[in-house]
Amino acid sequence: KIKVRFAPSPTGPFHIGGARSALFNWLVAKHTGGTFLVRIEDTDLARSSRESEENIKEAMKWLGLNWDEGIDVGGDNGPYRQTERLDIYKKEVQRLIDEGKAYYCYCTEEELQKEREEQLAEGKTPVYGGHCRHLTPEQVEEYKKEGRKPVVRLVVPTDKVYAFDDMVRGHVEFQSSGVGDFIIMKSDGIPVYNFAVVIDDALMGVTDVIRAEEHLSNTPRQLAIYEALGYKVPRFGHISLILGSDHKKMSKRHGATSVQAYRDMGYLPDAMVNYLALLGWAPKGEQELFTREELIKEFSMDRVSSNDAVFDIEKLNWINFQYMKKLTAPELLDFVMPFLEKAGYVTLPLSDEKRDWLEKVVWYVRDHLYFGQQVVENVKPFFEEPAPVEDAEIKAIIDAEDSHKILAAYAEALKALPEFNEDSIKKCFKAVMKETGIKGKAAFEPVRIALTGQTQGPGLYTMIELLGLEETEKRLNRF
Ligand code: GLU
Repeated sequence: KIKVRFAPSPTGPFHIGGARSALFNWLVAKHTGGTFLVRIEDTDLARSSRESEENIKEAMKWLGLNWDEGIDVGGDNGPYRQTERLDIYKKEVQRLIDEGKAYYCYCTEEELQKEREEQLAEGKTPVYGGHCRHLTPEQVEEYKKEGRKPVVRLVVPTDKVYAFDDMVRGHVEFQSSGVGDFIIMKSDGIPVYNFAVVIDDALMGVTDVIRAEEHLSNTPRQLAIYEALGYKVPRFGHISLILGSDHKKMSKRHGATSVQAYRDMGYLPDAMVNYLALLGWAPKGEQELFTREELIKEFSMDRVSSNDAVFDIEKLNWINFQYMKKLTAPELLDFVMPFLEKAGYVTLPLSDEKRDWLEKVVWYVRDHLYFGQQVVENVKPFFEEPAPVEDAEIKAIIDAEDSHKILAAYAEALKALPEFNEDSIKKCFKAVMKETGIKGKAAFEPVRIALTGQTQGPGLYTMIELLGLEETEKRLNRF
């Protein structure tokens, strides 16, 4: 049975890249009927925070990436937060020391720095020379007396090839000669990432380690640790980087990088999941829209590309647009309500009548919404009188004699309508056009400008009905 895991370091916002790793693991678990485990890697005490952990969990829940074992939900292999597992790491370190596979190192930073400089001067790659590998008890006593606090280093063979078959990158080999006896536990008793991750993956029974490419270079060190501890090595799959539109590593420059930011802009979780799945995974056919069930059915690591993925906001927008179109009018209104509230356009609770009206207004602009936040600029004309016309071209249209004439005629005719709805408004407009002899653009553009300040937009008659007679009249009469 497959067990995969997502092991975030809670050191900041939950990035798109992390979400993609979490999703791929989740999909593998769901596809194979396996287990998805979530563990918190918080050994970087200075940078880790509970707040960030909460953000990550919240964003995962928002995306619908539920986990079967791990933090909060529990399981047989806890605790699932690394800072609560320090005793486990210490025990394993002690075992390695007892077996002669690891040793205390008392070298100071200055001594190590000196060694590195000498190696560099000789044109060698800096590697720990193994000074403390064979200390006599007397030397150890001496160092202790000097008050030196030791780290623990792993004994790494110098003539080994670490090889593995990566699910994404195929056969990968590393020479051990460039590795050296590296630190597995710092002097404060905190293990380094490579050590903790191996022990956790092994003791938690993880079969497949699927993670970001940045950890590929950590893998040989982890293989050395697996070997020393005598644990079974899992399968590895390193997924490629996510690049911005300019093919450089994705960063703030390219726009929002955290999952929460997209949530807050009004992207739907299903759309996000659909889009993230396509970041590196190539489905068989041309299909781009996948339900969760379809993703679970189709996803496989075989079709995850080793090429870097490019984050394409237009594509995300297109996908989100498709998902938003599936919402019913009440669902769409509920979805965009927070944006309307924030813009000050509505205050809750709403009367049934107001809600009804709002539902129609939002429905009216829906073809212009790639994400929720865009509702604000689109419904603006319903809540605010348009600003005075400044654009010279638009000004020329509205200032034309015919424009004034037809606006006045419309206002007059609308007032006389027994019923105020799309149909009657349309008939009324037709009649006014006939009467004044003003037709086509000249008959429509001035109305739009008067009502919205723009020359274009969705259905004019619907807009007028929703705006209501009083407001329409007021705006028409401004000119
Ligand atoms: N905690 C690591 C990170 O957030 C992940 C380690 C791993 O997946 O092996 O980058």
